[in-house]
Amino acid sequence: MMQLPCPWCGLRDENEFVCGGTTHVARPGLSASDADWGHYLFFRDNPKGVHLERWRHAWGCGLWFNIARHTVTHEVLSAYAMTDAPPRLDGG
Ligand SMILES: [Zn+2]
Repeated sequence: MMQLPCPWCGLRDENEFVCGGTTHVARPGLSASDADWGHYLFFRDNPKGVHLERWRHAWGCGLWFNIARHTVTHEVLSAYAMTDAPPRLDGG
C-alpha cells in the first residue's frame, strides 16, 4: 500500500486520504470563453512522471495539502501546504 506524508501528521497509509486531483490549476476569470471554462473543468494532464496533486487527510487531521508524486514509482518527492508554491524539482 502506498503511504503519504501528511505535513502535520507524518507518514500514513493511503486509505486515510482522499485525492483531490491535479493542484495549481488556475481558475479562469468571469469573462473567459465557454471553451476556456470547458478546458478548466474537464481537461487535466496525465503525465508519466512527476505530478502535482492535492490530497486531504480525511481520516486524520482533515486538512488539504499538496504533494509531488511520481506516477510510475509512487515516490513522493515533496509534501507542502496548500498556500505554498510548488517545489522546484530539478532532474526528476
Ligand atoms: Zn494529517
